[in-house]
Amino acid sequence: MTITLKFCGGARTVTGSMHLLSVDRSHVLLDCGLFHGRRDEFYSVNSELSFNPQNLCACIVSHAHIDHCGNLPTLIKKGYRQHILATPPTKELCRYMLPDSGYIQEEDVKFVNKINRGRGLALRYPLYTKQEAEAALKYIRSLEYHTRYALSREIDLTFFNSGHILGAAVPVFDIKNGDTTTTRIAYAVDLGRYGMPLLRDPETPKDVDYLIIESTYGGRSHASIEAAEDELAQAIDRTVRRGGKVIIPSFALERTQLMVFFINKLIKRKKIKKIPIYVDSPLAVNLTEVFRHNWEYFDEESKKAFLDEPDPLGFDSVRYVTSVDESKHLNDESRPMIIISASGMCENGRILHHLKNNVENPHNTIVVVGFMAKETLGRRIVEREKIVKIFGRPYNLNAEVITLNAFSAHADKDGLVDYVKSFGKRLKKVFIVHGEEEQSEVLRTNLKKLNLKAVIPAKDEVVFLAKRK
Ligand SMILES: [Zn+2]
Repeated sequence: MTITLKFCGGARTVTGSMHLLSVDRSHVLLDCGLFHGRRDEFYSVNSELSFNPQNLCACIVSHAHIDHCGNLPTLIKKGYRQHILATPPTKELCRYMLPDSGYIQEEDVKFVNKINRGRGLALRYPLYTKQEAEAALKYIRSLEYHTRYALSREIDLTFFNSGHILGAAVPVFDIKNGDTTTTRIAYAVDLGRYGMPLLRDPETPKDVDYLIIESTYGGRSHASIEAAEDELAQAIDRTVRRGGKVIIPSFALERTQLMVFFINKLIKRKKIKKIPIYVDSPLAVNLTEVFRHNWEYFDEESKKAFLDEPDPLGFDSVRYVTSVDESKHLNDESRPMIIISASGMCENGRILHHLKNNVENPHNTIVVVGFMAKETLGRRIVEREKIVKIFGRPYNLNAEVITLNAFSAHADKDGLVDYVKSFGKRLKKVFIVHGEEEQSEVLRTNLKKLNLKAVIPAKDEVVFLAKRK
């Protein structure tokens, strides 16, 4: 019996999660995420897979964030024809997330090719189209939490709650060692936080031997939600008094719903004045519907609210913008308002138009509520670069920028260590992925202090967990 792990993507970086678990000749892919980066790198990294998709016996998707599921269409294009397993909400969320990702790429290529044609440069092609993304959906099968399923003769799968976003899971693999023993591997990428609104808390599966864990915030602590509420209220209030607009770049999935929930709470408690809130993302509208009818997956308090109240997420007081005309019209309005728009890292989508029209005005505020990967426009805004390029043109960044990482859906420095500790003495080794190197390094140091073996594998590194004798 030989058990290996190969870290094919999302190793020593945050995006593009993709790992290969092999037990003899059974190969299982853990996530198939998109790597975010500049156009050339985006295409080359995402189109080259470091394994043969036709040799896989299964693919598991931990959750519906694009950096975990967004490269599934490439997998199908390259010949994968087996099941893709996900929890029921993840399967449903993917129905919107994947075609949207294809659409974004088609639009981006259209935009670039317009320029390239004029300059006599070679034309580009999308990694995959909306149609190709839709074709990938039919391979997704849902598996309920806590239900054991045989992926192959040697490997069983069970999903546990990760507390990260709706439908997110910690997939656990039980591997038959060939005698009476088993090896248990848990994949906590991404890992959420305890006590977050709506979501159930992360679960710790028992008797785990090896743990693969994310480290997005391996070296940082999140402020408390309560403190962030005040900071958000003050920022909105300041902006309203200046007569400006509040622009919130937000992932359409989970973060948008959470922000609407919080802002509504601030209005209800009279911490801020009632001003128009626009959610400008057709994707967010569809995802919100998925949230509405998957209420039984939320925590007990939220489930009760869904049964007792007509609209516990407060979506009746928000204007959802789907048409392009209405989206453009928001730029003509000068009154204070809050615009929540995707994409979360400001790489594409309608947020780019809102930033283009608003970053130069010092009365406005950009509120950053999510993680911004290196090399993204979002990161440049967080780092307050004086000039930022949007649609290829330079703009002065004069708007106020505030960063609130308390809304993060990821466990922080202490949360990660506490989670690893909760696995107890059986844990033999921890593999740290999904983090910029300095963040992963802090987590490794903290785990070493607890006498835990922890490594930060490099991209495409193969480690042997058991070797055939
Ligand atoms: Zn995630």
